[in-house]
Amino acid sequence: MDIPRIFTITESAHRIHNPFTPEKFAVLGAALRLASGARVLDLGCGSGEMLCTWARDHGVTGTGIDMSPLFIGQAKRRAEELGVAHQLKFIHGDAAGYVAEEKVSVAACVGATWIAGGVSGTIELLARSLHAGGIILIGEPYWWQLPPTEDVAKGCLAHAISDFLLLPELLASFGQLGCDVVEMVLADQDGWDRYEAAKWLTMRRWLEANPADELAKEVRAKLSSEPRRYATYTREYLGWGVFALMLR
Ligand code: SAH
Repeated sequence: MDIPRIFTITESAHRIHNPFTPEKFAVLGAALRLASGARVLDLGCGSGEMLCTWARDHGVTGTGIDMSPLFIGQAKRRAEELGVAHQLKFIHGDAAGYVAEEKVSVAACVGATWIAGGVSGTIELLARSLHAGGIILIGEPYWWQLPPTEDVAKGCLAHAISDFLLLPELLASFGQLGCDVVEMVLADQDGWDRYEAAKWLTMRRWLEANPADELAKEVRAKLSSEPRRYATYTREYLGWGVFALMLR
């Protein structure tokens, strides 16, 4: 079981697989006022940076599930490196339908809401693992500015303008799903650069090491076009944030 190989090629050197930086995760961890020993569930945990650093900085315990064996392996090594392996469990698997055996204080899906068919389904899924009064974290894109045309939305790698909302509408939509928005931390363009521009050096080095690979042509084309596409579209139009929700 694995995610499409192109992601493990372009993001093999990423610790954080979204436009958040280590500082943003630190701000979010502090904003949530995490108690030592609090249990956290993270669906689509990637390389586990959020869980590992919160385990180190706030003493949380938790479980992360991810479909990528590469990322789960990196998460386990990171937990060892930060001396928090005894606090965390990383599981390689499909997070669709995953419900924790023991209820958690924080149930998160940070940049992987397709796991449960979108934001609404993901909130429902996470709620099944949550203590009464617990916090749901949703990491999700929104339009920083509304694309003037569908082509601009496609340039941001969305299917259509309707894929995402503007920030005020996204915040209102959480209310319509029965949640209070109790905190939020938003990515900025520097964070987007860390996520997107870091892929370019990884691609270049991968191409040098794997010239005969079946994906080499695709990666070469991407490396040639991505800097300009990113600066024209994603960097100008797409926002991203983590939203903390409590069920009403
Ligand atoms: N939350 C992480 C990773 C976000 S990227 C971070 O902040 O760094 C999206 C992640 O979802 C990837 O790691 C990908 O491997 C994972 N993923 C995609 N589909 C999945 C599924 N069905 N079950 C579990 N993980 C999945």
